[in-house]
Amino acid sequence: MYTLGDIPRCSARSFPTRTAISFEGTSLTYAELNQRVNRLCNSLRVQGIGKEDRLAVLSENTYKYLEIYFAAGKLGISVTPLNFRLADPEIIHIINDSESTVLFAGDGYEERAMQMAGSLPGIRQWIAMDNRAAGFDFYEDLLASASVDEPESDTNEEDMAILMYTGGTTGLPKGVMMTHRALVTGFISTALTFSFSKQDITCFVLPLFHVSFWPAFAHLLVGGKVVIMRRPEVAGVLELIQDQRCTHINAVPTLYNWMLQLVHQGAYDLSSLRIMTYAGSPFPPELLKKCIERFGPIFMQAYGMTECIGGTSLSMEDHCLEGERSRLLASAGRPIIGVDVAVTGTDDKPLPPGEIGEIILRGKCVMKGYWKNPDLTAETLRGGWYHTGDMGYLDKDGYLFLVDRKADMIVTGGENVYPKEVEDVLYQHPAVSMAAVVSAPDEKWGERVQAVVVLKPDQKVNEEELIAHCKSLLAGYKCPKAIDFRDSLPTTAVGKILRKDIKKTFWQGYERTIN
Ligand code: ATP
Ligand code: MG
Repeated sequence: MYTLGDIPRCSARSFPTRTAISFEGTSLTYAELNQRVNRLCNSLRVQGIGKEDRLAVLSENTYKYLEIYFAAGKLGISVTPLNFRLADPEIIHIINDSESTVLFAGDGYEERAMQMAGSLPGIRQWIAMDNRAAGFDFYEDLLASASVDEPESDTNEEDMAILMYTGGTTGLPKGVMMTHRALVTGFISTALTFSFSKQDITCFVLPLFHVSFWPAFAHLLVGGKVVIMRRPEVAGVLELIQDQRCTHINAVPTLYNWMLQLVHQGAYDLSSLRIMTYAGSPFPPELLKKCIERFGPIFMQAYGMTECIGGTSLSMEDHCLEGERSRLLASAGRPIIGVDVAVTGTDDKPLPPGEIGEIILRGKCVMKGYWKNPDLTAETLRGGWYHTGDMGYLDKDGYLFLVDRKADMIVTGGENVYPKEVEDVLYQHPAVSMAAVVSAPDEKWGERVQAVVVLKPDQKVNEEELIAHCKSLLAGYKCPKAIDFRDSLPTTAVGKILRKDIKKTFWQGYERTIN
């Protein structure tokens, strides 16, 4: 079994009557899910959609999103999921760049899609997923008109299954070519790592257009149930876990931070949760500790990316709150099955334990390359390893510690400062709710360490006090020279703090001054 289309086909065989999906009052058994996937695949084929075509999807979360991934898998064509939070010109660029020919529009996105029509010459079929709309075929009509039989499929595991653009945290999103083999390997490895089983019910809240989609597929591989939320909304997440008796949730640290603040106010029965996974950005240890105290010792970490779904994982047992082992709370754990992890220096040679360098990954779950960018592909995949752009070190026991992204390092007066280390210290102050550290122009030091902080409601601390707090825990050159207080911080669609946007506010106009 090595294509995306094999997932519903095989699971329908193994668990036909078990519930695969639950979404806003609709639920589908595995047999029903596979039948709907077959109908969509057969319908697209009858309409002449074939190997030359590519599907793009502009939609919030819905089970139909998964059906499209699976149907495309059976057809042997790829899907480009679109981040609906991007501006229209950015979406237009991705649709055209990906050479998509069919555009699926989710509930409420029909009008927006049509408004872009003039700029999308490649799209030859428009499909509205939830509502009848002028200019669109209606998804449910397509399904009703097509055969339910399992389609013949000649999909090869090395075919591109998904052309997904990266999160855009550090720059413009890059198109990542993921093959069936890379994806299915990643889903199997994560299912094993987190011991997902058919008894599990995952509360799926992160976007299906992002690599954060992995828990949905990993559960569907093993007969578990996927409870899908249209979009993450903190109180709604807690209610969903309570009402659906979910056993698992995957979220980014910012979402857990918001959940933590809400859980203190209201009473939710979250006793069904067996495991809470986090991924996507560093979890400041102070916050992680609070989450463990509140939600229980049920946290596991995943470190991965669009280019490689499975990287490393920190086990539940390694989330110790006390003693020497509590240092592991700052670690991203050890490699998951099928993945090799190493850290290299500028000469591409592996570094000994404890030395900071670039984190590199190798395994079947690594991408095929960047779409239409052979130079970047060659550079990033050199020597058979994927170079992540994340800096870190391995300790003598093989635990990976992420230091920060290479692109975010601050050079101040010749010293390197990694923002994450400073942010972790800011989070240790009881008044701090969110923190970001970026470089800002500085006449004396070239760059200065600049912090931007959101305080908890009803909490007070001034700039001087917060800098003094940092000085008590960090070397002087790492301490923020200035701290701005804001009401909120910008985040990506999955809730990662957008340091690049924050940084821009400090550098605006500066380049002009230099010139
Ligand atoms: P872009 O590549 O466009 O800048 P992005 O890197 O945020 O965006 P993703 O592929 O969604 O796009 O994110 C992967 C990155 O997220 C990793 O390279 C790493 O920097 C960060 N990340 C993922 N998991 C973790 C984790 N557990 N701890 C810390 N950082 C993580
Ligand atoms: Mg990246």
